[in-house]
Amino acid sequence: MPHHILLLEDEPAIADTLLYALRGEGFEVTHVRLVSDALRAFGDRAPDLAILDVGVPDGNGFDVCRAIRKTSDLPIVFLTARGEEIDRVLGLELGGDDYVTKPFSPREVCARVRAILRRSANGAGLPRARESAPPSGAPGSDAVLALDEEAQRVACLGEWLALTRYEFLLLATLLKRPERIFSRSELMDLVWADAPDTAERTVDAHIKLLRAKLRERGASPDLIQTHRNMGYSVQRSS
Ligand code: CA
Repeated sequence: MPHHILLLEDEPAIADTLLYALRGEGFEVTHVRLVSDALRAFGDRAPDLAILDVGVPDGNGFDVCRAIRKTSDLPIVFLTARGEEIDRVLGLELGGDDYVTKPFSPREVCARVRAILRRSANGAGLPRARESAPPSGAPGSDAVLALDEEAQRVACLGEWLALTRYEFLLLATLLKRPERIFSRSELMDLVWADAPDTAERTVDAHIKLLRAKLRERGASPDLIQTHRNMGYSVQRSS
């Protein structure tokens, strides 16, 4: 069964290139132009992933995300216009998994979609919070936080965390150098290298999200430390 993607995008040129690329990769895509149609399509048949344009004529992608999140954990990717930093932060706080800034290459979107689907489940329809335990004997598996760089994931107290791409990159950057203080601008350069217009509050927003995920797992959110006027570090945990 091909993965089913719901695409909300009102600009025909963007929608056409995305449809062409996604279908070319073997995805089944339902394309809608309005929030009302997106909600109807979601109700008719839940997709495996949703790609939501932020600005559409009868509302925005955030409305659709909020509605979907009431009943579903499916991965959501936002399409945002260049420079709309606030959109990125809000989108991630609402539970988006990733965002792509226009203009983008359809190939980049396809790569993100594939990566998210691979990460979210080994198959369609599994909630993304359901993760397998790290293999016993995994390097550092007795640590509170264990980085598995090859598979791009982090275990917390023996269970994989469900992380978005930037959350993973941020946490991995900190974990590779425990106790090392990274300034916000260093983190922006290292983690958001492909998004040069990222603002400092994006770093703060992601730290907040990571701490919430640690807390959810029963780990201390203070594993990630704030150093006033300096930046962030992660505690050595083993
Ligand atoms: Ca639009």
